[in-house]
Amino acid sequence: MNDRPSPAAAPDRAKAAGVSRVGAARERAQAIVAQMSLAEKAALCSGATFWRLKGNERLGLPAIMVADGPHGLRKQAGAADATGLWESVPATCFPTASALACTWNVPLLHDVGVAIGEQCRAEDVAVLLGPGMNIKRHPLCGRNFEYFSEDPLLSGELAAAMVTGVQSQGVGACLKHFAVNNQERRRMVVNAVVDERTLREIYLRGFEIAVRKARPWTVMCAYNKVDGVYCSENERLLKEILRGEWGFDGVTMTDWGAANDRVLGVAAGMDLEMPGSGGVNDRRVAEAARSGRLPEAALDGACSRLVSLALAAAEPDAPTARADQDAHHALARKAASEAAVLLRNEERLLPLSAAANIAIVGAFAKHPRFQGTGSSRVRPTRVDCAFDAIERLLEDGATLAYAAGYDPATGASEAKLIDEAVAKARRADVVVAFVGLPDLYESEGFDREHMRLPAQHEALIEALCAANPATAVVLLNGAAVEMPWAARPQAILEGWLGGQAGGAALADLLFGRANPSGKLAETFPLRQADVPSDRWFPGTGRQVEHREGMYVGYRYFDTAGVEVLFPFGHGLSYTRFEYEDLAVTPVAGAEGAFEASVTVRNVGERAGAEVAQLYVHHVYSPVHRPEQELRGFAKATLGRGESRRLTFALPPRAFAWYDAAAGAWATPAGTFEIRVGASSRDIRLRAQVEISPPRHDAVPAAAAPPLAADGVAEEALAGWLGHPVPAAEPSRPFHLNSTVGELRATWLGRIGGRFLTRQFHRRMGLAAADAATRKMFAEMLRDMPLRSLVLHSRGALGFRVVACLAALAQGRLGAVLRAWRGKTSPFGGSRP
Ligand code: BGC
Repeated sequence: MNDRPSPAAAPDRAKAAGVSRVGAARERAQAIVAQMSLAEKAALCSGATFWRLKGNERLGLPAIMVADGPHGLRKQAGAADATGLWESVPATCFPTASALACTWNVPLLHDVGVAIGEQCRAEDVAVLLGPGMNIKRHPLCGRNFEYFSEDPLLSGELAAAMVTGVQSQGVGACLKHFAVNNQERRRMVVNAVVDERTLREIYLRGFEIAVRKARPWTVMCAYNKVDGVYCSENERLLKEILRGEWGFDGVTMTDWGAANDRVLGVAAGMDLEMPGSGGVNDRRVAEAARSGRLPEAALDGACSRLVSLALAAAEPDAPTARADQDAHHALARKAASEAAVLLRNEERLLPLSAAANIAIVGAFAKHPRFQGTGSSRVRPTRVDCAFDAIERLLEDGATLAYAAGYDPATGASEAKLIDEAVAKARRADVVVAFVGLPDLYESEGFDREHMRLPAQHEALIEALCAANPATAVVLLNGAAVEMPWAARPQAILEGWLGGQAGGAALADLLFGRANPSGKLAETFPLRQADVPSDRWFPGTGRQVEHREGMYVGYRYFDTAGVEVLFPFGHGLSYTRFEYEDLAVTPVAGAEGAFEASVTVRNVGERAGAEVAQLYVHHVYSPVHRPEQELRGFAKATLGRGESRRLTFALPPRAFAWYDAAAGAWATPAGTFEIRVGASSRDIRLRAQVEISPPRHDAVPAAAAPPLAADGVAEEALAGWLGHPVPAAEPSRPFHLNSTVGELRATWLGRIGGRFLTRQFHRRMGLAAADAATRKMFAEMLRDMPLRSLVLHSRGALGFRVVACLAALAQGRLGAVLRAWRGKTSPFGGSRP
């Protein structure tokens, strides 16, 4: 798919047989599980500490460690938290996933995985909690910076490469968050209502690709519900699809605190509860197994997978690595350089001359935002800032002025700062303005409020462009932003959250030491209101309805013909590429499979790299389908005048859609157009292929979601779902999954809420935290369900007590008494 063939998988005997190393240890594990008592088995299914699983000395099982992830190792040595608040050991901070995705470079992602795997080995971490690979349904999802793309093929291929890289070091990877976790708002309780076809084609497809290709050791479930059932106890997702259909043979684990009813979870195939509930759930699981409510076989299954994981982690087939921090930093710089996307370059403003008089404006040039807030926050081994790197590149005769323009933490500015920047811009040949999203605007734990940059950054851009048209804007942000000002600067370079070496990489690109080759892995719409899910994001109450169906990102914009700011796949270069000779031929002996090939030629003045993209369009499709869908990509690095033949495999799935009524992928007979180009809106070559006979037909109308500009009405969604749209779960009368925010509706609840907030602040030491972290905690606490109190108190408060507190906050004394006497199940309903 890329210049360099995808590296062979780990030196892993298991891999060749299509099983993971975890799967390969199953028989040995079963023999060990046979020697365990019921209590031991129940205990094994939850964490010992925040980051450690339980071992078993008697049986010689090590207590392995897991750590975040995903774009670098976050191993906490001392105090532990799930939010990146407490210090971790220094590790290389690579660009975040939204940046890495724009490299479209499969071998590079593998190399990044190898480097992170080496760091894990050196730190004795058995499983890295990443990559995250949820689909970017809406640019406002606060955690989009941790996810790859709006397209499942690109997400799946890149995640697979990263997993293979990590696991080549004898360290497990963890695909997360499975599934349909596309927003931070109410992430712990929200029910995602999504039709089966959309689920399969958009939200599960990337996971499917990564599971089948890379055999990850572990998968982490999402916090939310899908189709009314928490992902941590969702049998259909965990058992039927993940294990049954895709052959996943590793360990499933909950996101931190995602376990709802743990007994249901074990029965549904959720192996490990993290970080654990201080033993409360272990006792519930043991009791349920003893009483026959939980089949012991389900518990044995979970344990044999967990023991397999411990055995796999202990296999001594690679020497303990010493992480080479210099080499990793250099790799991070290469990745950041390939990730940056040149969005606009009028008058060929870039690359800049190293002998020019330059004004650098923007505090991000000296204090870069290079990663996001939350659980993925890595403590970098060093940080390159763009200003220093630019200074080093300048030649004799050049001058360099600097103005901060705004506060890097808040983005706030004042007239004095803007005036100073403008004065420096006037005197310079060229202005480079560093702007973007401060931490307060984009984080795990909350969604963005709007798609704009801070107003002061926009004002700064306008003022600089008025003062000096030769202005290049460099953006540091984790997701698409609106740019009503886009026509003003001559150049726009999207630098993303480029990791610890991002500053040096940007300097290389600005001065032509490296040639931009990044391409957008997400569409930049003109306006937020154009985003197809905008009206339905993040949902109302405790429910989010995916009324735009499969029309996510370019699948919508290209089908509806809606103008965008920068299309999916877009990215400029300092050189030019031409596309020639598209050929599509059937693969002998493989019915319905084709191979496409194309020549890409560098016809410009410099060496550079091009990402060629292949989209499939179904001519006269009998079902609604997006105008075109990405089905292949290839990246070629070419010297001046050089050309290369690129090939793309098109298996039958490349033409298929998911027929929900039949529960199968279907390829209707017909004509398909193969489109190859430089972006979804810059198609250079087309060819047609015929497919017959149909591989599956009989298309019920209800299974074919049509396109609607702002989503469909409830009846249509019900049609796709095959049942009425469920009513959102009420939060009152209060129950275990009512949130702290919902509690505030009653005066007793408000008092309780205030108490919890104070406790949280004290325990987490939030007084010393920065404003972004405090905001993240406030939002997370608001959306936290009451059941999390069991976890946070490490079991000091049991579910019964929490159920009583919920009833008390509602002022329902009878319910308090019933709950206290154990007459009602804390998870709803009467006790059986
Ligand atoms: C995040 C996960 C992370 C875990 C452990 C959770 O809040 O959603 O992605 O791996 O914490 O830090």
